[in-house]
Amino acid sequence: MDPLEGRVSRTAVWTGADIEMREVPVPALCDGDVLVRVRLATVCGSDLHTVSGRRCGPVPSVLGHEGVGEIVAVGPHATSDVGERVVWSVTRVCHECDRCRSGRTAKCRSVTKVGHEPFTGPWPLSGTYSEYIVLPAGTELVPVPDLLPDVVAAPAACATATAAAVIDAAGYLEGRRVVVCGAGMLGVTAVAMCVEVGAEVAVLDVDARRTAWAERFGAVADEGGPVDVALDFSGSSEAIAALVPRLDIGGRLVLAGSVAPAAAVPVDPEAVVRGWLTISGVHNYEPRHLREAVAFLTRTVAVHPWAELVDAPVPLDVLGEVLHGGPGLRAAVAP
Ligand SMILES: [Zn+2]
Ligand SMILES: [Zn+2]
Repeated sequence: MDPLEGRVSRTAVWTGADIEMREVPVPALCDGDVLVRVRLATVCGSDLHTVSGRRCGPVPSVLGHEGVGEIVAVGPHATSDVGERVVWSVTRVCHECDRCRSGRTAKCRSVTKVGHEPFTGPWPLSGTYSEYIVLPAGTELVPVPDLLPDVVAAPAACATATAAAVIDAAGYLEGRRVVVCGAGMLGVTAVAMCVEVGAEVAVLDVDARRTAWAERFGAVADEGGPVDVALDFSGSSEAIAALVPRLDIGGRLVLAGSVAPAAAVPVDPEAVVRGWLTISGVHNYEPRHLREAVAFLTRTVAVHPWAELVDAPVPLDVLGEVLHGGPGLRAAVAP
């Protein structure tokens, strides 16, 4: 008999207008599936944008793509162990298409994503705002070391892993002048990563409270001079346009915040040629970036006040109250 038969998940379903609590039957696990009981989920800014109407997604759906949980059951041929505390990637990929085989699984041709799938489709329990989440084969699971509290581990799957992918794209950073534009959870995390490898990092944000957070993680206030590396998490065309002319010879600009349509940014091709400039983009990340995220948080858990970036968790029933933002950089839910 299926040990999950009759088990239900208390799940917060986004209807397009509000959040509805539902009791959802836990499906029988397929080949490679892993069932996780969510211990803590953090609220990424993109969910705030979905709820406020700035971003489109399937309706109804279970939102939430940052979380930490415990494996409670595994399907046939799953390689993880019951009882393990884990974080998991946002993307579920095929590992077989041309893009996956070329090392760009982030853009797998059949990618599906945690917290982005229709509730009425083949993956109803896809989001972290739920007692249980099903993680199909092709989702990367990374064990969480005991010394990493849930509150520090939860943002790994989006904020920390994406920041790790941006740092990867930024190249060699030791001794480099870096400016981080946009000091939300990703920007503050990128600041800490730059500091760890010995970069001189300045921060730029329109919100003084966020700049203050980045300064606690080792950045100085930006004074506007030339830089070797600029990392943008703001997605503001105006801010990006101001970063390009600041790039010194061999400079690199990495864009990660532009995930909604925005005004085009003028680029002077002669400046790019004569300056040996590189402008690149990062969207989603590779499995290695999630592993690096967990390793980085473990190395720095005693160095930085990570837990203070996350608000005290609320119960799932009142999720709606924190989907409009909270006092910290991340709201949290304990399903
Ligand atoms: Zn996110
Ligand atoms: Zn693929």
